Amino acid sequence: MGIEAAMPQGMFLTTQLQKMINWSRRSSVWPMPYATACCGIEYMAAACSRYDLARFGAEVTRFSPRQADLMLVAGRVPIKTLPVIQRIYTQMTEPKWVVAMGACASTGGIFDTYAVVQGLDQFLPVDVYIPGCPPRPETIIEGIMAIQEIIDRDAIPYDDEGNRKPLNLALNPNHD
Ligand code: SF4
Repeated sequence: MGIEAAMPQGMFLTTQLQKMINWSRRSSVWPMPYATACCGIEYMAAACSRYDLARFGAEVTRFSPRQADLMLVAGRVPIKTLPVIQRIYTQMTEPKWVVAMGACASTGGIFDTYAVVQGLDQFLPVDVYIPGCPPRPETIIEGIMAIQEIIDRDAIPYDDEGNRKPLNLALNPNHD
């Protein structure tokens, strides 16, 4: 009752509520790491006290997809495990986002072989690529911040044809 009286127009409350929801989401991203190789170790470093991922609200690592909204694929993805990773993705709650961490997850990296996925985005809608082999913890944190920017915009970016358009941190010359 009081809220309605304070609102000059009905739409105003809706807009602010959405911003509050986005703020809540961006401040409590719950990652589900799918770590298959050395990049996973670097993710652990980012989450520990020295780099303190908790400063960005993303330290609550979940190993149940139903409690996670960010899939963080760290390491090479063998073709044989692809059905598993896709199953996990479908079990995650909406809205959800995907990060390809490191050269292997993003492109196959040095594993140019029939047994390894040559780019996760061929099979999952990747939102952010984090460059490096392995990426430094600072770069991982910036990747999480890129996800937060997407949430702030209240949108998953789409190109003119309606396909999901990922951010690519590799375009940033400040990254290794
Ligand atoms: Fe290991 Fe480099 Fe591949 Fe990461 S990108 S999983 S560090 S080989």
